[in-house]
Amino acid sequence: MLRPVLLACMALFLCIEWGPLNAERARWGIASGDPFVPEIALTFDDGPREHGMQELMAALSPFGVQGTFFLVGKFADRYASVTAALHAGGHAIENHSFTHPKLYTLWVEKIVRETERCNEVIEALGIRRPRFMRPPGGSWNLKVLNAMRRMDMRLGLWNINSADYTGKSAEDITALILRKAAPGAIVLMHSGVPQTVSALPGIVHELERRGYRFVSVQDLWNCGAI
Ligand SMILES: [Zn+2]
Repeated sequence: MLRPVLLACMALFLCIEWGPLNAERARWGIASGDPFVPEIALTFDDGPREHGMQELMAALSPFGVQGTFFLVGKFADRYASVTAALHAGGHAIENHSFTHPKLYTLWVEKIVRETERCNEVIEALGIRRPRFMRPPGGSWNLKVLNAMRRMDMRLGLWNINSADYTGKSAEDITALILRKAAPGAIVLMHSGVPQTVSALPGIVHELERRGYRFVSVQDLWNCGAI
């Protein structure tokens, strides 16, 4: 008797805490843009890193492509000149918390503080206040959502995971992204991964050939998020 009740409670809990974005919540986050508009956002988490950032920017600049960088606040502070260079290069700067904790394990106050501290570092460099927060690991629950509501920020998620953090080759990263690319896609990649840097020119070249434009997550949101 107890076991079905327990299972039902667990199912309800999981559904509430980690369910997909439903119609009501969709306004508070974005995982993809308009599926009828050939635009794609390339996003890079966990930067700025000590190494590899110049190479990453150099891989994108010949195409005039700007990415969306979800920065970890303590790194944005430590490598402030790199943060400034990203901004100067026209890349969009968004929030990936201050210390990269599992946000869903924290109380709302602490989630707000983690997010605000990252915003403060970015604003102190003269960059506009981030509008999107990507929770570390992409994990979020109602507490994270409530914290974002309180700060009038949005969750910035993705719908194509390059899995470039697994050590896979540039060829595999390229193949995965080109296979899944679709209008409105938000692609998850990471700063400081050499294979990602190697893969980018081929990815951008092929997607441009297919008629895609590269935009920021904010641009996709403005175009009509779903
Ligand atoms: Zn991360």
